Amino acid sequence: MKNTKYVFVTGGVTSSLGKGIIAASLAKLLQERGYSVTIQKLDPYINIDPGTLNPYEHGECYVTNDGAETDLDLGHYERFLNIPTSQANNVTTGRIYQAVIDKERRGDFLGKTVQVIPHITDEIKHRIQILGNTGEFDIVITEIGGTVGDIESLPYVEAVRQLKWELGENNAIVIHLTLIPYLAAAGELKTKPTQHSVKMLMQSGVNPDVLVCRTEHHLSDSIKRKLALFCNVHKDDVIESIDADTIYDVPNFMFNEGLDKVVLKKLTLSADRKPNLNAWNNFLQKHKNPKHTVEIGLIGKYVELHDAYKSISESFIHAGAANEVKVNIRWIHSEELSKKNVPEKLKGLHGVLVAPGFGERGIEGKIEAVTYVREHNIPFLGICLGMQMAVIEFARNVLGLENANSTEMDSSTKYPVISIMEAQKNITDKGGTMRLGAWDCKLEKNSNVFKSYQTELISERHRHRYEYNNEYLKQFTDAGLIATGVNPETNLVEIIELPNHPWFVGVQYHPEYKSTVLNPHPLFVSFVKACLLYKT
Ligand code: GLN
Repeated sequence: MKNTKYVFVTGGVTSSLGKGIIAASLAKLLQERGYSVTIQKLDPYINIDPGTLNPYEHGECYVTNDGAETDLDLGHYERFLNIPTSQANNVTTGRIYQAVIDKERRGDFLGKTVQVIPHITDEIKHRIQILGNTGEFDIVITEIGGTVGDIESLPYVEAVRQLKWELGENNAIVIHLTLIPYLAAAGELKTKPTQHSVKMLMQSGVNPDVLVCRTEHHLSDSIKRKLALFCNVHKDDVIESIDADTIYDVPNFMFNEGLDKVVLKKLTLSADRKPNLNAWNNFLQKHKNPKHTVEIGLIGKYVELHDAYKSISESFIHAGAANEVKVNIRWIHSEELSKKNVPEKLKGLHGVLVAPGFGERGIEGKIEAVTYVREHNIPFLGICLGMQMAVIEFARNVLGLENANSTEMDSSTKYPVISIMEAQKNITDKGGTMRLGAWDCKLEKNSNVFKSYQTELISERHRHRYEYNNEYLKQFTDAGLIATGVNPETNLVEIIELPNHPWFVGVQYHPEYKSTVLNPHPLFVSFVKACLLYKT
């Protein structure tokens, strides 16, 4: 049983400063020094999870092995640390209140008035310590979503104050991430917003132990001294976080600034062992010095917000580095595609990925794109809805099943080649009820997917309600669309391929959730390779 220590990461001045990346970078350095570390995100919104959120609101919904629908920061945690997260790693205000209200209904509070303090804060503290209490981790890093001063964040900051006091100063510390804006007209970096945000934190009874300062320009010694003086920290505890070309530079930047060392000192843990970033830097070296480039079209309906496809674009970075290729993504809005303009819009692409999604908007454009890449031998990867579009396209244009569709889009279609799963038929609630999380899949030996994975049994994460309709299996197979991956227990078709095409793969699952810096996903690696081959 380890004596787990806690690091809280709060944010000030503005949102989008990259708390998740700072948390993940610190965790990486600690991990590479030999500590076992995990990261947790507390989200101050009232949804139970982001599964019901439109991607325009909150970016991608990330899915863990245990089927939790979570914040996209968990994707960064996994990609940096190369270890899986779970439901316990992401807690929302909605989930906290739901747990407290359920207890109240059961009568667990024995007639007491249920209040934010202590009941909500107790539940928050309990959720923070669930990971620590497993005994698996030396250090748990907890990122508090939102910005200090928000009404929504108050109970979290209060829970942090209590925990810091209860656990003692060597066992729990607070890193406050802020912005040091640069006023071009004055030619100066300004510390005042940081001073105010620290003041706000201190009004809630929390003194930050470390300041991490996002900045476009290097912080001079005198600025660091000023920040230290006004913010109640030592000068060494003021860490500069300068803008980086890639998020994957940040662990090195934080090492050079000594963030991990400062943290270990405060937690009274040894910093004797240096972090071993060889494998990480090997990736960075390849990522920054590509020998070739390919251009891949990403067709989706949320392309205005790249965060909606975060795991996919990161997977291309990992797979690109593995192939020493720079992958340029051409973001293509599915609603803007028609039979007429597809040749123009897809011109010059070396591969096409049709993205996951829900609902009818933009699906005809996706289907047109599939027709084009199928007929022109352009490498294709369809993910979830993208795979379903490939099945529908083949049904309509090769099998001649006119207006074949998914029952998600047309419940009375004559040819429901994609249909609702049996287990989903009587479900009415939308939240947390899809087929979620990791499921096994058995691969056909003679296939592109087997060549990619090099193993027969794989496990991949899912998030869908509709599935390939096995009633059409024979028709599809006879015409050359082969099911090369099947769930061994339920016979659900998970992968389709066209053997007569250089690389045409559709997967019902989401490979992008499992790609990490140190383990680029085999399917993305093969896809990028196929795109390069197509180009040359
Ligand atoms: N909307 C489809 C389904 O529910 C696909 C989901 C997805 O792409 N994640 O089956």
